[in-house]
Amino acid sequence: MSLRIVVTVKYVPDATGDRHFADDLTVDRDDVDGLLSELDEYAVEQALQIAEDADDAEITVLTVGPEDAKDALRKALSMGADKAIHVEDDDLHGTDVIGTSLVLAKAIEKAGYDLVISGMASTDGTAGVVPALLAERLGVPQVTLLSEVSVEDGVVKGRRDGDTASEQLEASLPAVVSVTDQSGEARYPSFKGIMAAKKKPVESWDLEDLEIEADEVGLEGAWTKVDSATERPARTAGTIVKDEGEGGKQLAEFLAGQKFI
Ligand SMILES: Cc1cc2nc3c(=O)[nH]c(=O)nc-3n(C[C@H](O)[C@H](O)[C@H](O)COP(=O)(O)OP(=O)(O)OC[C@H]3O[C@@H](n4cnc5c(N)ncnc54)[C@H](O)[C@@H]3O)c2cc1C
Repeated sequence: MSLRIVVTVKYVPDATGDRHFADDLTVDRDDVDGLLSELDEYAVEQALQIAEDADDAEITVLTVGPEDAKDALRKALSMGADKAIHVEDDDLHGTDVIGTSLVLAKAIEKAGYDLVISGMASTDGTAGVVPALLAERLGVPQVTLLSEVSVEDGVVKGRRDGDTASEQLEASLPAVVSVTDQSGEARYPSFKGIMAAKKKPVESWDLEDLEIEADEVGLEGAWTKVDSATERPARTAGTIVKDEGEGGKQLAEFLAGQKFI
C-alpha cells in the first residue's frame, strides 16, 4: 500500500520586505510579498527522499493561508511533491497557533495520512509548536526536531541532535515528525519540475469542508491577542571609530558600553 506523506508548508511574508501591522494588529499580508517558508523546504526535501526510498509513496503538500499561499504550494510541487491542498477561508483572518493546528489537523485527517512532516518552525511566527499540537490533535506519536529521518517497515526513525547528546528516536506510523535545517540541503526545482507542477492537482477547501465553525478560528477563536505594536525606530547613523592610534581602545570601550564584552 502506498505510503501517504502529508507535508505542512507555510506561506510566510518575505523577511527582506518591509512588514507592517494592519489596524486590527494582525500582519498586513497584502502589503508584502510572500514565499514558501525556507524551513519547510527541508520538510519537503525529506519527504521526497523518503518517497524515493519507498516502493510506493504519495506526497501531499498542505497549506493554510490566503490566496497567494498557492505560490508556496507550487514551489513544493515543482520540487517534486505529487499534489496539494490549500485551505482558505475569510474567517481564518487572525487565526493563532491553536486555530491553525485545528485547521491543519482536520485537513490532514480528511486527506488521509501515514506520516506528517513539518518544518521545525515557521520563519515568521517561529512558535515551533504546530507539529506537537498536530500530534496531540491527531492522537499519534510525535518525533520532533530530527536532523536525519527515514521510514522502514511502518516505523519512522530519526536522529535528534542536542547540545550534549544525539538521540535515536522512532515511532510507529501514523506519526508526526518535524525536521531541522540540518536535515539536508533542499533541492532546487528543475525546469522540468516547474513545468510539471503546473499540471499537478491543487484542491481548495474551506472551513465548511472541514466542519470547523467560524468562531473556533480567526481573531474570535484565538487564545492569544496582540494588545499593541510599535514601529521599529528608524536606523540611526552608526558610530565611526577612526584609528589614529587609539582605535582599538575606542572599539573595546564601545563594545563594553553595549555590553558585548
Ligand atoms: C490567513 C491567516 C491569518 C493569520 N493571522 C494571524 C494573526 O493575526 N495572529 C496570529 O498569531 N497568527 C495568525 N495566523 C497564524 C500564524 O500565521 C501561524 O500560522 C500560526 O500561528 C502557527 O504559528 P507558527 O507559524 O509560529 O508555527 P510553528 O509552530 O513555528 O510552525 C511549525 C511548522 O508548522 C507548519 N505550519 C505552521 N503554520 C502553517 C500554516 N499556516 N500552513 C501550513 N503549515 C503550517 C509548518 O510546517 C511549520 O514549519 C494566521 C494564519 C493565517 C493562515
